[in-house]
Amino acid sequence: MSLCVNPGCRNPHNLDRAEICSSCGSQLLLRMRYRPIRILGKGTFGQTLLAIDEDIPSRPYCAVKQFHFSSPHPDVLDLVQELILLL
Ligand SMILES: [Zn+2]
Repeated sequence: MSLCVNPGCRNPHNLDRAEICSSCGSQLLLRMRYRPIRILGKGTFGQTLLAIDEDIPSRPYCAVKQFHFSSPHPDVLDLVQELILLL
């Protein structure tokens, strides 16, 4: 299964090798490399996903952290992005 990570997607479950979400049309490969297959956990600012690294021939599992953050203040968003880069 490939999981669509578009927060607004109504049916995020797709076929194993699908490239485009059948429900919302979003790309399923993150950064043209990581295929999310399951949500491992969710928090206030995002979620952690179990994914397959399709850029490596053995297609190993990996974890992908996806942040969801919105603010009407662009300065706050810039600060959050800087803090994430420090992680
Ligand atoms: Zn979708």
